[in-house]
Amino acid sequence: MLKTLKSFDLKDKRVLIRVDFNVPVDNDCVIDDFRIRAALPTIQYCLNEGSKVILISHLGRPNGIIDPKLSLMPAGEKLADLLEMPIKFSNNCISEDAHDVTLGLRSGEIHLLENLRFHTEETKNDQNFSINLAKHGQIFINDAFGTAHRSHASNVGVSKYFNQKCMGFLIEKELEFLNKSMSLPKKPLTLILGGAKIDTKIDLINRFIPIADQIIIGGGMAFTFLKAKGKDIGTSLIDPSMIPEVKKILANARGKTSLIFPKDFICAKSMNHKKQLICSSNEIPSDLMGLDIGPSSIDEFSKIIRNSGTVLWNGPMGVFEVDGFHLGTEKIAESISNVTNEGSTTIVGGGDSAAAIKKFGMLNNFSHISTGGGATLSLLSGNTMPAIYALEL
Ligand code: AMP
Repeated sequence: MLKTLKSFDLKDKRVLIRVDFNVPVDNDCVIDDFRIRAALPTIQYCLNEGSKVILISHLGRPNGIIDPKLSLMPAGEKLADLLEMPIKFSNNCISEDAHDVTLGLRSGEIHLLENLRFHTEETKNDQNFSINLAKHGQIFINDAFGTAHRSHASNVGVSKYFNQKCMGFLIEKELEFLNKSMSLPKKPLTLILGGAKIDTKIDLINRFIPIADQIIIGGGMAFTFLKAKGKDIGTSLIDPSMIPEVKKILANARGKTSLIFPKDFICAKSMNHKKQLICSSNEIPSDLMGLDIGPSSIDEFSKIIRNSGTVLWNGPMGVFEVDGFHLGTEKIAESISNVTNEGSTTIVGGGDSAAAIKKFGMLNNFSHISTGGGATLSLLSGNTMPAIYALEL
């Protein structure tokens, strides 16, 4: 059975928390603190219970090389700001010095350890590295949902060395919303998918065919479907290797759920061309590419969203990063946000959709915004999450 944070007496205990502080940093400053804020409830709870908190995280992909640009120091400074308290920092997560600092902690203090991935052993789930990390704590809490689909030393390996271990409030909340969207959704359930990488979303579509009342497919991935349906897509994005899979999906969905594709697109010669044309999905000129959904699609998708009890959204409707191709994503985000206010459950599946709603200033308008990208897709696709499973053993 998975334990939760409230099952343990945390007073005066050294609590090792795996957090996800994998945040964008520029010029030694955190430029998006969404993930740090998401970890606060667990950290704050442990502090209030009188524990000694040791935080571990990765940042980026340094592949075992110490890269000052990927130091967790700026994340530590941001955390100190948010909590309005000083925190201790060690620049090697498994050094003797770091262990000494941990042993010297007083109740209510925080010790943040430097980027785990400055050691190749982290992603190799190395046993000795796990043992050295485990030395920091008496209780282990995993609250890093973003890496829960990976077997690394700091989430899977380390778990073996604790009798007292559990998930934090963030993972608990992620599981609650994401699992409920599949097992007990308020109906009708609408899945909205977009983005470019169709191969990462095939399993998810197959899983939701028997569950969802409708599946809207926009963004760049729509064109592989349209091509498989025999349409001309001009120079739009396509993944030809996925055509056989997509044909299976089209056949599998028949009679079970509605697959809905954009009726029109905003097209241009490339994303750098200012000249745009609204094209029907039946008439995309051979020299143009679809870079956003068009106005009729926005209307149709918004109507479906308004009538949904649950909306689960993953992936932008167009190249939202470029002005001129952002409107489809913005309007869909707005429709989902409006239906949230009317009592529907709305879940944004992390990654680029979360980046988009941040860009549009709508971060507070959804029931849940997942902190995972790949982890969210993996959980929704029905895969076992090794780091969560490790907490049950
Ligand atoms: P993904 O990681 O699969 O969710 O893809 C996100 C990316 O998809 C974003 O960077 C978007 O710019 C891109 N994208 C969305 N729609 C299109 C499109 N019609 N053509 C090309 N790229 C797109």
